Amino acid sequence: MKSRVLILISVTIFYFTMTAAAFSQKMPEVDRIHTSAGDVEMFFIGHGSLMFRHEGFVIHIDPVSSSGNYEGLPAADLVLVTHEHYDHLDTDLIKKLRKKETVLICNPASAPELPGSRIMKAGDKVIVSNITIEAVPAYNIVHERAKGQPFHPKGSGNGYVISIADKRFYVAGDTENIPEMKNLSNIDVAFLPMNLPYTMTPEMVADAAKTFKPAILYPYHYGETNTGEIKRLLKDTGIEVRIRELK
Ligand code: ZN
Ligand code: ZN
Repeated sequence: MKSRVLILISVTIFYFTMTAAAFSQKMPEVDRIHTSAGDVEMFFIGHGSLMFRHEGFVIHIDPVSSSGNYEGLPAADLVLVTHEHYDHLDTDLIKKLRKKETVLICNPASAPELPGSRIMKAGDKVIVSNITIEAVPAYNIVHERAKGQPFHPKGSGNGYVISIADKRFYVAGDTENIPEMKNLSNIDVAFLPMNLPYTMTPEMVADAAKTFKPAILYPYHYGETNTGEIKRLLKDTGIEVRIRELK
């Protein structure tokens, strides 16, 4: 009898501990962007990892488990991988988020690790379930690992422009303020990377943003870089800078 009571107590304690743990896991912040065909919810998972949801259609962008909390987030209808670095490509997590019908899009160098994926190179365009995806270049000009070896060489990684209804979202991947950004048009929401030394300084992000003038700019993948600086640099430009938990 005594042991039964003990078991009951321990089971109860276990249950409450588990429930408390589940609720204490922080859900990512979410912003909504209004489109002509319903809102797009943007989940800021952390670092370079984002999730967009539109009318139940789920897009995971560079899903990486070490970037944030994926507990309770839905599986992917579409996965976009910008490049093969460990903080952008997490094959174990993609396996978990992948359904039979999930479309997987990646740059050429990520493809060997993602069987069944569809390769996109800068300039390519595909339509998945009424959503248009355009791959655009992402590379370093200034910042390099060693002399002549940029962290992100030209022609390898992708950024993506995602058009949903009447809105265009630009997720830049790991890049600097490259000349090709001048070709971007009608960007409503832009995510530009700002962690050093791999991507851009706040000055470079400001320069990039001024070339294509997004309505809203989220510095993302910013590590320890001062986010206040980008706000200051883009003051009075008409670009709304939003800072979210995207270290
Ligand atoms: Zn990278
Ligand atoms: Zn990165």
